[in-house]
Amino acid sequence: MAVVSYIGVLCLLLVVATSVGELSKPNIVILFADDVGYGDIGCYGHPTSSTPHIDKLASSGMLFTQFYVGSPVCSPSRASLLTGRLPPRTGVYPGVFQANMTGGLPLNETTVAKLLQEVGYQTGMIGKWHLGVGKNQKYLPTNFGFEYYLGIPYTHAQCPCVTCFWPNDPCLVNCKPYFTGCPIFHNNEIIEQPADLLTLNEKYATAAQNFIAEHSSRNQPFFLYYAFQHCHAPQFAGKQFRNSTLRGVFGDSLAEIDWSVGQVLEEINKQGIADNTLIFFSSDNGPSTQHKAEGGAAGLLKCGKGTTYEGGQRVPGIAVWPGKIPAGVRTAELASTMDLLPTLVKLTGSELPNTTLDGFDISSVLFSGGKSQRDTFFFYPQNPRHDIGVYAVRYQQYKAHFYTEGASECGRDNHDVDCRPSAKLTKHNPPLLFNLNQDPSELYNLNTDKQYTDILNHITQIYKHHVETMDWTQSEILKPTDPYVEPCCTPGCEPFPSCCQCHRSNPYSMPSPHVLQIP
Ligand code: MG
Repeated sequence: MAVVSYIGVLCLLLVVATSVGELSKPNIVILFADDVGYGDIGCYGHPTSSTPHIDKLASSGMLFTQFYVGSPVCSPSRASLLTGRLPPRTGVYPGVFQANMTGGLPLNETTVAKLLQEVGYQTGMIGKWHLGVGKNQKYLPTNFGFEYYLGIPYTHAQCPCVTCFWPNDPCLVNCKPYFTGCPIFHNNEIIEQPADLLTLNEKYATAAQNFIAEHSSRNQPFFLYYAFQHCHAPQFAGKQFRNSTLRGVFGDSLAEIDWSVGQVLEEINKQGIADNTLIFFSSDNGPSTQHKAEGGAAGLLKCGKGTTYEGGQRVPGIAVWPGKIPAGVRTAELASTMDLLPTLVKLTGSELPNTTLDGFDISSVLFSGGKSQRDTFFFYPQNPRHDIGVYAVRYQQYKAHFYTEGASECGRDNHDVDCRPSAKLTKHNPPLLFNLNQDPSELYNLNTDKQYTDILNHITQIYKHHVETMDWTQSEILKPTDPYVEPCCTPGCEPFPSCCQCHRSNPYSMPSPHVLQIP
């Protein structure tokens, strides 16, 4: 009898444990830097960057050495991250959204936030959105599955840049003085304009901590997408980080990101939820080397932001989940920000959207050291054109460039002439061919070596099929501009845009984002 009861209790415990396991959805945190290149972070080899918290992330999780973003510039890359789709499909091309544009990420695009929200996640976004604002703020994050938003909805370079360094030093780039001052939105309301860049980072970090604390204390699974304003030019840094590193202003700015990562980790540990939280760190595109030492580094990769060379689209990628993802692992498996959506769908029991995805579930790489489902990657330029299509195709370790083009973001006097804006659009027939496992710097073209004829033909078939089957969505960035869609906290004021100034009561010290009171 005693044995039967014992077995009964065991069975009951098993049932309860299984139920808890099924119900316990992991928290998801995506940390996304801006214009931070493959060679910028300590754990990726930079000798003088100060990134102890990001390095700690890498040592407690998995570091990807062949991780790609969907575009070499900000807006389309972010659209790809959130939708799992290449830029031609999202309509976020050519280039990036400006403050006076009427377009945005199409409202019928399904974001990972929306999918997670549908299965019970609390969803928040902090920082740089850059997927449009539009008339009546119709394209802000709150329209794409995020319940909470705090941030400047585009690059701080799309506002007048005045003070960038503590205590009162000017910015190194003049930015766009003809637009309204950078607005900080809380949900759909502007609470600060122009934004104070010297305190911005602290506000973002506090909001992130509050968001994590609130939902963990309520045992609610959460999805936090935290997109830093750093390290897009102009660099900026507050009191704590001004002149704090050996690397100059870029290093100081990167140190502010690193501090924020530390704040997020500290809060997750404080709440005791580390074992149930997946953290992913990456960057939206390669370094903007037009700013030279103030613009980041691609390490050993060729060119940078704006190009389809490796330096434009191969970026840092770090995944951490204690007990689930092995610690201290470096993987050379292929992966992309577009793979996060299908991977998170699988992890959280949500459903894939009824659209064509360009991402793959990479769970096997993360959790069991397996092979990536991804063996191909398509490189679209910053200004994709329907009549030209994809520029380069990677298949396994081989990358074929069908077209190449330099970029203004790489600088007119870049040491590599291929990266300069003077390197005009060039068609390659046969395509340039590189073995990226042996030659990640794309130095040694193999296309005249007969032993690579078969692989070149195979990639050409993949290329042709992709070009023929790509569904292009109409461009949102080419929609008309309108100065009156520029965010202004006092609509209708004169003289526009300089009259758009508001400094409402500071909500950032409040204990929880959900109790913020906006006057
Ligand atoms: Mg960027």
